[in-house]
Amino acid sequence: EIDRLSDLEKLKVLGHGNGGTVYQVRHKITSAIYALKIVHPDCDTNSRRNILREMEILRRTDSPFIVRCHGIIEKPFGDIAILMEYMDAGTLDTLLKSHGTLSELSLSTITRQVLNGLHYLHSQKIVHRDIKPANLLVNQNMEVKIADFGVSRIMCRSLEPCDSYVGTCAYMSPERFDPDTYGSNYNGYAADIWSLGLTLFELCVGHFPFLPSGQRSNWATLMCAICFGEPPSLPETTSEEFQSFINCCLQKDSNKRWTALQLLSHPFVAKDRGSENQSEIKSL
Ligand code: ADP
Repeated sequence: EIDRLSDLEKLKVLGHGNGGTVYQVRHKITSAIYALKIVHPDCDTNSRRNILREMEILRRTDSPFIVRCHGIIEKPFGDIAILMEYMDAGTLDTLLKSHGTLSELSLSTITRQVLNGLHYLHSQKIVHRDIKPANLLVNQNMEVKIADFGVSRIMCRSLEPCDSYVGTCAYMSPERFDPDTYGSNYNGYAADIWSLGLTLFELCVGHFPFLPSGQRSNWATLMCAICFGEPPSLPETTSEEFQSFINCCLQKDSNKRWTALQLLSHPFVAKDRGSENQSEIKSL
């Protein structure tokens, strides 16, 4: 484990997040490349809480489908840095913007990996709470890993009420706005599956489902669309398997929504299209 910032050389800024900056860094001795998230020492208590939560979760997780943590560096005067595996193709959000919408074949490979990650997290009693394209990292091998655990939660009791609006409001499931109607058995895990459904929808059609392309909306309009509208369904041009998969994720009643484990056996992801897919991925 690497525990000294002085062993690392900053190469460039990869992105800015809440209260922190993510750098690409090189380990001076091994030349290995990592991503380093540094929290600004003067950031607000909220950002500080998020980074501590992220640290705790990254310390506990060990899965090829979750971004790996290679060390946590804490300085006496409050700087905290998390050294992570470097994902060289950025996020699915940037991939969508640079490459355009993704084919069903790519989406099925992506989906299988995210489901494996979610199944792992849920079995460890961790709810991510902010699944969206910008929080799914990719590398050149088209490996997809779940990142950004700033608002995640470790469930200590089996049932936990909907306590606060965290995460990105647009990807929030109906039961998080209205647990009485849509989540008689609210436990949080199903909310991650809803967000996954919206994420895949967006990667397939190119824009966030509840809003026409390019349109921005306010919180109330969006909440009404999510709670009172029909869940979005994919265009007819997509395969029946994909449409059915999305319907299983976007069940408004959280009790009817499939779990990550159930979804892993859905035909959209269960079918091994390995060889077809390799050539497709190379073209990305
Ligand atoms: P926040 O969620 O607080 O905005 P993130 O943890 O998502 O912050 O990081 C901000 C940006 O940094 C991301 O959008 C991504 O572009 C980049 N980034 C974060 N972690 C990595 C990583 N492990 N590898 C490559 N890029 C990363």
